[in-house]
Amino acid sequence: MKQGFCSSSESKPCVVCNKQTANYRTYEQANIVIQIPLCDNVYENKYCWRSVDVKKLARQQLIDLKREILKQSEEGDNQ
Ligand SMILES: [Zn+2]
Repeated sequence: MKQGFCSSSESKPCVVCNKQTANYRTYEQANIVIQIPLCDNVYENKYCWRSVDVKKLARQQLIDLKREILKQSEEGDNQ
């Protein structure tokens, strides 16, 4: 698995402190990329990504994603 950082012009609430951040941690595996908004701010000395259990977080994100995909495909079948 490839891990990395990225920053985006789009801000989202940090999953730890809920503050808007444009910094994301990225996890890439088999062409699937998960981006998790997490503070990484040198100036404010704020590093939420250090205080979070990434494995737990990624698992939850994948569960949510899978649920959404299933929901969408079910809705598509009904149309
Ligand atoms: Zn944060």
